[in-house]
Amino acid sequence: MEEIFSRSVDFLGSGRYASEQKRRLREICYCKVCIQDGYHSYFHEMPWLSMCPFHNVKLEKVFGEHKPSIAESRIAALELLLSESCMSWPHCQDHFPLVESDVAISIAAWVARARAAAASMSLGEVWCLGEDDSGGGVSLSQSLGQLRVLEVMPDLIEPLFIKQRGKWDLEVLEFPMYVKLELSRLKRLNIKFGDLYEFYKEVTSHAPKKPVFVERANHFVDVLRARHGSCTCRWALVPDPWEYKWAEVDPGSHFGWRSLCPFQIAIEELNVMRKMPEESTITRKKIENRILLSLVSRQMLDANLISYTKDAKVSAGGYLTIDESVARACIWRPQSPLTDLLNTAAEWEVDVTFDALKAWLDDIEHGAQPFNQDRPKYSLRLRETSSGMSLVKWTASPGDQQAS
Ligand SMILES: [Zn+2]
Ligand SMILES: [Zn+2]
Repeated sequence: MEEIFSRSVDFLGSGRYASEQKRRLREICYCKVCIQDGYHSYFHEMPWLSMCPFHNVKLEKVFGEHKPSIAESRIAALELLLSESCMSWPHCQDHFPLVESDVAISIAAWVARARAAAASMSLGEVWCLGEDDSGGGVSLSQSLGQLRVLEVMPDLIEPLFIKQRGKWDLEVLEFPMYVKLELSRLKRLNIKFGDLYEFYKEVTSHAPKKPVFVERANHFVDVLRARHGSCTCRWALVPDPWEYKWAEVDPGSHFGWRSLCPFQIAIEELNVMRKMPEESTITRKKIENRILLSLVSRQMLDANLISYTKDAKVSAGGYLTIDESVARACIWRPQSPLTDLLNTAAEWEVDVTFDALKAWLDDIEHGAQPFNQDRPKYSLRLRETSSGMSLVKWTASPGDQQAS
């Protein structure tokens, strides 16, 4: 048993471009030709490889039996494999003849270049869309797809990688130094970009002149409504009874009043983007949200980012009262150096949200289940550069990038 390459053949240090997705703990991935010669390489265990780089054959899987530790379980499984497949085991050749295979060297070199490119694209990252969401980082498919944009993969090694879904595109917009300086000023006032961004959308979405991101979200809602027509969906999210669950339903049947079909969910998500969720009920969560917004608006007022309207309901301490709507009581100062950046981010967020929803609805239409969706993550990222700020947008378009 020999570990042919060091453990540096991975994407650690690639920031949010690296996937944390791993093989299952007791799973051993191996090449049946390598095993015959008594060899197992760390390469075979890389979750992004589907073929042996030395023999160009598909990797096989085996699961270790339960042992006190995972390491013991893996070693036992490997030993069993070797004793069954390798004639001379435990006496192997001294040197594995394929160590210096062009393909393996090319893979290691590409991984190193891609890792460096991703590290430099992550440098100075101050925010990304969905950074507070729970549920792990990017999928292997997204990670590989984006790394391949940052560093072109040689044709030679392409067929050895797992199949990736969609083709990724990168768009970058640079903002000048005064934007960076303004964000530094706000940082000193303990205002984080993520909070500022959410607050900006809340305040401007209700302004008399609708911002572009709201108009765009309105348009996408119309597109989805037209496509949906009268509901013939085969899936619905139904209460069960403590939580919601996906269930297959008779197409066209009328669901219970609390059930939602995929289109209704997609439209609701866009409604949140254009800040138009149902306001008819005041829940505890909404009250908590109001209190938080009241505190944040005071912070924004002190930072000179907004002003209060003349008839805003303000307490003696200078905070908005809980029954006051932040969107109604606050006016964003359009001359803020951040307006352009915030607008672009909001417009791009509407775009990437719609793209993801559309891909999801397409998949369901083609027979996929509505859960377990590999939804793009961190589609927008904001970075500090030496000359200002850089806003990054990642878009996935359908179609296989790689047809292996
Ligand atoms: Zn092999
Ligand atoms: Zn429907």
